[in-house]
Amino acid sequence: MSKIAVIGTGYVGLVTGTCFSDLGNSVVCVDVDEDKVKKLKRGESPIYELGLEEMLQRNMKAGRLDFTTSYEAALHGAEFVFIAVGTPEGEDGSADMRYVESAARSIGKIAPGKSEEPLIIINKSTVPIGTGDVVGKQVREECPPGFKVAVVSNPEFLREGQAVHDFLHPDRVVLGSDDRWAADKVRELYEPLGAPIVVTDIRTAEMIKYASNAILATYISFINEIAFICENLGADVKEVVQGMGYDKRINPQFLNAGVGFGGSCFPKDVKALVKMAENAHARPQLLQSVLDINQDARDSFVAKVVKLLSGSVRGKTIGVLGLSFKPDTDDLREAPSIDIINALEKLGAKVKAYDPIGVDAARSLLKNVEFCANAYDTARGADALLLITDWNEFKQLDMEKICSLMKQPVLVDGRNIYDPHAMREFGFTYSGVGRA
Ligand code: NAD
Repeated sequence: MSKIAVIGTGYVGLVTGTCFSDLGNSVVCVDVDEDKVKKLKRGESPIYELGLEEMLQRNMKAGRLDFTTSYEAALHGAEFVFIAVGTPEGEDGSADMRYVESAARSIGKIAPGKSEEPLIIINKSTVPIGTGDVVGKQVREECPPGFKVAVVSNPEFLREGQAVHDFLHPDRVVLGSDDRWAADKVRELYEPLGAPIVVTDIRTAEMIKYASNAILATYISFINEIAFICENLGADVKEVVQGMGYDKRINPQFLNAGVGFGGSCFPKDVKALVKMAENAHARPQLLQSVLDINQDARDSFVAKVVKLLSGSVRGKTIGVLGLSFKPDTDDLREAPSIDIINALEKLGAKVKAYDPIGVDAARSLLKNVEFCANAYDTARGADALLLITDWNEFKQLDMEKICSLMKQPVLVDGRNIYDPHAMREFGFTYSGVGRA
């Protein structure tokens, strides 16, 4: 049993803290957001993640998991401190390091106790290459002389929507440190998971995270570019991917054409990597294209809707299925739905929308949208129905009913989940992405 403090109770911090407590450790999570902490202390998860709330309540009950707004309380007796605060996009595209710096300085100011062994600070936030050294420096600037700290970079790869599963069954754990002792101590924390553990220096570990997100974003933009070409030349991108996927060198899993990537990670991480490259006098040509193609995916989807509605959406009612940036999460950060809805509203459309769990988060972002109780209400009276997020519950709707409820049966499938022939048989004017 180790004593662990986790700073930040967002998607990463809350899942990290809860899962480490589930492995038998004693965990205290600290957050500056008082409302969040109040909710957590009542055993309620402020975010939607499969299995998280039940695990949280079980471990709180067992006395292994607690939440606080006090750094003193969280760091008291801690051997390990995880930093899992946000690193949002800054004004110039680079990562905004305000929250990481604030966390590092707070750790230094508290400098809990005077132990024989260094306090191990583990950075889970996605941070620019070189941040590990900066965090160590910021802690040391605040703490009493002689207080020992060791910094380990431990980037997180979990997927929102499957965060608990991914934390407990990671493909790999990456640990970067210039202090072998500290890396080995953190390795012991992760050993029960039985995953491969890659140990590197700090900068390499930090880069592994950016490079991993950048290649995944690149797959998406690659297949969207192929989709644009398919659409213009009369090929079907879904069948193209199927044909490509039998080649053992090509992994078709991430080759899904659609309205592009969103979320709190890919867009900001690719932008931050572009910025880092520029600052290092490298030319990030591919990465810049990945971002440009992603914007095109949203813009061309809107253009397609306009075209299908005879060149204008003014005064038309458009139904939107799915708001979260991907299924199984309530996270709307950088969701394609936001850009698409804003663009359609600007062109004079009236938008109604439904999402299985993202509606609460959407209300403050999409003020003019009428939120519906289900997919059928969304389709009722609509001139077009847009599928933006491929939630499972949209895959087997009664499409005959949907078609009959609409004013004009125009179906624009932003994730290619429907069979074009079947949809046309139902009577829809159907258009997917990159499909003849
Ligand atoms: P989040 O925005 O959901 O949560 C961050 C939390 O940190 C918030 O609750 C905020 O109140 C708290 N916080 C901010 N400053 C603080 C401070 N000084 N002290 C204590 N708490 C503070 O963020 P997230 O999505 O969990 O992401 C955290 C980091 O992990 C980011 O760097 C992100 O890029 C990275 N990451 C995220 C994911 C993901 O899927 N969300 C996956 C891998 C890595």
